[in-house]
Amino acid sequence: MHEFSLAERILESALGAAAAHGGLPVERIVVEIGALQQVVPEALAFAFDAAKSGTPAEDAVLEWRETAALIACESCGSEFTPEDMFWMCPSCGAAGGRVVRGEELIIQSVTLRETLLETREVEHGN
Ligand SMILES: [Zn+2]
Repeated sequence: MHEFSLAERILESALGAAAAHGGLPVERIVVEIGALQQVVPEALAFAFDAAKSGTPAEDAVLEWRETAALIACESCGSEFTPEDMFWMCPSCGAAGGRVVRGEELIIQSVTLRETLLETREVEHGN
């Protein structure tokens, strides 16, 4: 299942960020995934949960959204967002085209937990 490789790439990037900051636990990861990746939300959630267990991202929440695909027609050059798997240019009717956008995986942000230790030690002089 292709969601597993996506989950691993997301996790790898988040763990890299965590490692660069002294191994702080990962709290939240925000990503954008192109529509042509055809992610099945449940499958990605399952794959991410499986991949993160036992890592500093164990409690991390994955937030993702799909970005629309954009196809460039090779006959007339106009760009369009396909309605389904079959790409047909709405301007000239040509089939197929070149992918402009829609296959990407963008890691938008990784939130690491900030650990604030508050100590209110009161020293009493004797
Ligand atoms: Zn066209």
